[in-house]
Amino acid sequence: MVARQLADRGTRDARVLEAMRTVPRHEFVPEEFREGAYEDHPLPIGEEQTISQPYIVAAMLEQLDLQATDRVLEIGTGSGYVTALLSLLVAEVYSVERHAQLAIAAEGTLHRLGYGKVKIGVGDGREGWAEYAPFDAILVSAATPEMPSALFAQLREGGRMMIPIGSPTSQELRLIRKVGGRAEETVLEGCRFVPLVEGTVEGG
Ligand code: SAH
Repeated sequence: MVARQLADRGTRDARVLEAMRTVPRHEFVPEEFREGAYEDHPLPIGEEQTISQPYIVAAMLEQLDLQATDRVLEIGTGSGYVTALLSLLVAEVYSVERHAQLAIAAEGTLHRLGYGKVKIGVGDGREGWAEYAPFDAILVSAATPEMPSALFAQLREGGRMMIPIGSPTSQELRLIRKVGGRAEETVLEGCRFVPLVEGTVEGG
Protein backbone atom coordinates (compact mmCIF):
# COMPACT_ATOMS: atom_id res chain seq x y z
CA MET A 1 0.00 0.00 0.00
CA VAL A 2 2.69 2.49 1.00
CA ALA A 3 4.95 1.82 -1.99
CA ARG A 4 2.30 1.56 -4.72
CA GLN A 5 -0.45 3.88 -3.59
CA LEU A 6 1.52 6.53 -1.75
CA ALA A 7 5.22 6.78 -2.62
CA ASP A 8 4.68 6.19 -6.34
CA ARG A 9 1.96 8.83 -6.40
CA GLY A 10 4.07 11.50 -4.84
CA THR A 11 3.90 11.21 -1.05
CA ARG A 12 7.44 12.17 0.01
CA ASP A 13 7.19 13.00 3.70
CA ALA A 14 9.19 10.25 5.42
CA ARG A 15 7.34 10.63 8.72
CA VAL A 16 3.96 10.26 7.03
CA LEU A 17 5.08 7.20 5.06
CA GLU A 18 6.50 5.63 8.22
CA ALA A 19 3.29 6.27 10.17
CA MET A 20 1.25 4.72 7.36
CA ARG A 21 3.52 1.70 7.40
CA THR A 22 3.09 1.37 11.17
CA VAL A 23 -0.67 1.71 11.77
CA PRO A 24 -2.54 -1.56 11.05
CA ARG A 25 -5.34 -0.25 8.84
CA HIS A 26 -7.21 -3.58 8.89
CA GLU A 27 -7.82 -3.16 12.63
CA PHE A 28 -9.98 -0.12 11.89
CA VAL A 29 -12.13 -1.86 9.28
CA PRO A 30 -15.13 -4.11 10.09
CA GLU A 31 -14.40 -7.84 9.97
CA GLU A 32 -16.12 -8.45 6.61
CA PHE A 33 -14.03 -5.82 4.79
CA ARG A 34 -10.64 -6.64 6.31
CA GLU A 35 -9.37 -8.42 3.27
CA GLY A 36 -9.62 -5.19 1.30
CA ALA A 37 -8.21 -2.97 4.04
CA TYR A 38 -5.04 -2.06 2.13
CA GLU A 39 -6.68 -1.50 -1.25
CA ASP A 40 -6.88 1.80 -3.06
CA HIS A 41 -10.38 2.95 -2.01
CA PRO A 42 -12.51 3.96 0.98
CA LEU A 43 -14.41 1.26 2.93
CA PRO A 44 -17.63 1.25 4.99
CA ILE A 45 -17.21 1.48 8.79
CA GLY A 46 -20.88 1.48 9.84
CA GLU A 47 -23.47 4.26 10.37
CA GLU A 48 -23.18 4.94 6.61
CA GLN A 49 -19.67 6.31 7.11
CA THR A 50 -16.37 5.37 5.50
CA ILE A 51 -12.70 5.07 6.31
CA SER A 52 -10.92 7.31 3.79
CA GLN A 53 -8.78 6.05 0.91
CA PRO A 54 -5.11 5.70 2.00
CA TYR A 55 -3.86 8.05 -0.70
CA ILE A 56 -6.14 10.92 0.34
CA VAL A 57 -5.20 10.43 4.01
CA ALA A 58 -1.50 10.61 3.14
CA ALA A 59 -2.03 13.72 1.00
CA MET A 60 -3.87 15.49 3.81
CA LEU A 61 -1.27 14.60 6.42
CA GLU A 62 1.63 15.58 4.22
CA GLN A 63 0.19 18.93 3.18
CA LEU A 64 -0.49 19.86 6.80
CA ASP A 65 3.28 19.86 7.37
CA LEU A 66 2.85 18.44 10.88
CA GLN A 67 5.52 18.99 13.52
CA ALA A 68 6.21 16.64 16.42
CA THR A 69 5.26 19.40 18.88
CA ASP A 70 1.89 20.22 17.26
CA ARG A 71 -1.54 20.12 18.90
CA VAL A 72 -4.02 18.91 16.32
CA LEU A 73 -7.81 18.89 16.05
CA GLU A 74 -9.45 16.22 13.90
CA ILE A 75 -13.10 16.50 12.84
CA GLY A 76 -14.78 13.17 12.01
CA THR A 77 -13.03 10.47 14.04
CA GLY A 78 -14.87 7.70 12.16
CA SER A 79 -12.93 4.48 12.65
CA GLY A 80 -10.05 6.26 14.42
CA TYR A 81 -7.58 5.36 11.66
CA VAL A 82 -6.47 8.92 10.96
CA THR A 83 -6.48 9.60 14.71
CA ALA A 84 -3.93 6.80 15.15
CA LEU A 85 -1.74 8.19 12.37
CA LEU A 86 -1.90 11.67 13.87
CA SER A 87 -0.90 10.32 17.28
CA LEU A 88 2.37 9.07 15.77
CA LEU A 89 3.09 12.38 14.09
CA VAL A 90 2.25 15.07 16.65
CA ALA A 91 2.23 15.79 20.39
CA GLU A 92 -1.49 16.08 21.12
CA VAL A 93 -4.55 14.88 19.20
CA TYR A 94 -8.14 15.99 19.86
CA SER A 95 -10.79 14.33 17.74
CA VAL A 96 -14.52 15.11 17.50
CA GLU A 97 -17.13 12.66 16.14
CA ARG A 98 -20.90 13.31 15.89
CA HIS A 99 -21.91 9.62 16.07
CA ALA A 100 -21.56 8.45 19.68
CA GLN A 101 -21.40 4.82 18.52
CA LEU A 102 -18.48 5.47 16.19
CA ALA A 103 -16.66 7.53 18.80
CA ILE A 104 -16.97 4.72 21.36
CA ALA A 105 -15.83 2.08 18.87
CA ALA A 106 -12.87 4.21 17.74
CA GLU A 107 -11.84 4.87 21.33
CA GLY A 108 -11.92 1.12 21.99
CA THR A 109 -9.80 0.30 18.94
CA LEU A 110 -7.25 3.02 19.69
CA HIS A 111 -6.96 1.94 23.31
CA ARG A 112 -6.63 -1.72 22.40
CA LEU A 113 -3.83 -0.97 19.94
CA GLY A 114 -2.02 1.28 22.40
CA TYR A 115 -2.65 4.66 20.76
CA GLY A 116 -3.16 6.42 24.05
CA LYS A 117 -2.19 9.96 23.27
CA VAL A 118 -5.57 10.97 21.88
CA LYS A 119 -8.71 12.58 23.28
CA ILE A 120 -12.02 11.78 21.58
CA GLY A 121 -15.19 13.80 22.10
CA VAL A 122 -18.76 13.38 20.87
CA GLY A 123 -19.97 16.64 19.40
CA ASP A 124 -20.72 18.69 16.34
CA GLY A 125 -17.31 19.20 14.85
CA ARG A 126 -18.45 22.33 13.03
CA GLU A 127 -18.05 23.98 16.42
CA GLY A 128 -14.52 22.66 16.90
CA TRP A 129 -13.36 21.98 20.47
CA ALA A 130 -12.96 25.38 22.11
CA GLU A 131 -11.72 23.96 25.41
CA TYR A 132 -8.43 22.85 23.84
CA ALA A 133 -7.97 25.64 21.27
CA PRO A 134 -5.88 27.07 19.71
CA PHE A 135 -4.62 24.30 17.43
CA ASP A 136 -1.54 24.22 15.21
CA ALA A 137 -3.43 22.19 12.64
CA ILE A 138 -7.01 21.05 11.95
CA LEU A 139 -7.89 18.09 9.74
CA VAL A 140 -11.52 17.81 8.63
CA SER A 141 -12.56 14.39 7.27
CA ALA A 142 -16.07 15.35 6.08
CA ALA A 143 -17.15 17.71 3.34
CA THR A 144 -18.89 21.04 3.76
CA PRO A 145 -19.99 23.80 1.35
CA GLU A 146 -18.17 26.39 3.47
CA MET A 147 -15.43 26.34 6.07
CA PRO A 148 -17.08 26.59 9.53
CA SER A 149 -15.99 29.89 11.09
CA ALA A 150 -15.51 28.34 14.55
CA LEU A 151 -12.82 26.05 13.16
CA PHE A 152 -10.89 28.94 11.65
CA ALA A 153 -11.21 30.85 14.92
CA GLN A 154 -9.64 27.91 16.80
CA LEU A 155 -6.62 27.81 14.53
CA ARG A 156 -3.56 29.60 15.87
CA GLU A 157 -1.86 32.31 13.83
CA GLY A 158 0.30 30.48 11.31
CA GLY A 159 -1.81 27.33 11.72
CA ARG A 160 -2.97 25.08 8.86
CA MET A 161 -6.33 23.46 8.12
CA MET A 162 -7.12 20.73 5.62
CA ILE A 163 -10.77 20.60 4.60
CA PRO A 164 -12.84 19.19 1.73
CA ILE A 165 -15.06 21.99 0.42
CA GLY A 166 -18.01 21.46 -1.91
CA SER A 167 -21.30 19.65 -2.47
CA PRO A 168 -21.97 16.02 -1.50
CA THR A 169 -20.93 14.92 -5.01
CA SER A 170 -18.18 17.34 -6.00
CA GLN A 171 -15.51 18.60 -3.63
CA GLU A 172 -11.99 19.88 -3.59
CA LEU A 173 -9.43 19.51 -0.86
CA ARG A 174 -8.26 22.89 0.39
CA LEU A 175 -5.31 23.86 2.52
CA ILE A 176 -6.07 26.96 4.55
CA ARG A 177 -3.36 28.92 6.35
CA LYS A 178 -4.08 31.57 8.95
CA VAL A 179 -1.84 34.48 8.08
CA GLY A 180 -2.31 37.84 9.80
CA GLY A 181 -5.68 36.57 11.04
CA ARG A 182 -6.88 35.92 7.48
CA ALA A 183 -7.38 32.75 5.48
CA GLU A 184 -4.94 31.99 2.68
CA GLU A 185 -6.30 29.14 0.58
CA THR A 186 -4.67 26.65 -1.73
CA VAL A 187 -6.82 24.28 -3.77
CA LEU A 188 -5.24 20.84 -3.87
CA GLU A 189 -7.29 18.22 -5.68
CA GLY A 190 -10.72 16.77 -6.23
CA CYS A 191 -11.97 14.39 -3.54
CA ARG A 192 -15.11 12.73 -2.24
CA PHE A 193 -15.94 12.67 1.46
CA VAL A 194 -19.17 12.02 3.34
CA PRO A 195 -20.90 15.28 4.35
CA LEU A 196 -20.17 17.22 7.52
CA VAL A 197 -23.59 17.01 9.13
CA GLU A 198 -25.09 19.28 11.76
CA GLY A 199 -25.74 18.01 15.30
CA THR A 200 -24.87 14.79 17.09
CA VAL A 201 -26.27 11.24 17.13
CA GLU A 202 -26.44 9.68 20.57
CA GLY A 203 -26.84 5.96 20.77
CA GLY A 204 -26.62 3.18 23.26
N1 SAH B 1 -10.99 9.78 9.25
C1 SAH B 1 -12.07 8.85 9.37
C2 SAH B 1 -13.06 9.15 8.28
C3 SAH B 1 -14.44 9.05 8.75
S1 SAH B 1 -15.69 9.56 7.61
C4 SAH B 1 -11.52 7.43 9.28
O1 SAH B 1 -10.37 7.27 8.94
O2 SAH B 1 -12.23 6.46 9.58
C5 SAH B 1 -16.20 11.09 8.29
C6 SAH B 1 -16.69 11.08 9.71
O3 SAH B 1 -17.13 12.40 10.02
C7 SAH B 1 -17.86 10.15 9.98
O4 SAH B 1 -17.54 9.28 11.02
C8 SAH B 1 -18.99 11.11 10.37
O5 SAH B 1 -19.85 10.57 11.35
C9 SAH B 1 -18.21 12.29 10.89
N2 SAH B 1 -18.93 13.56 10.89
C10 SAH B 1 -19.78 14.06 9.97
N3 SAH B 1 -20.24 15.26 10.35
C11 SAH B 1 -19.65 15.55 11.53
C12 SAH B 1 -19.71 16.66 12.44
N4 SAH B 1 -20.48 17.73 12.22
N5 SAH B 1 -18.95 16.60 13.56
C13 SAH B 1 -18.16 15.52 13.83
N6 SAH B 1 -18.07 14.47 13.02
C14 SAH B 1 -18.80 14.47 11.88
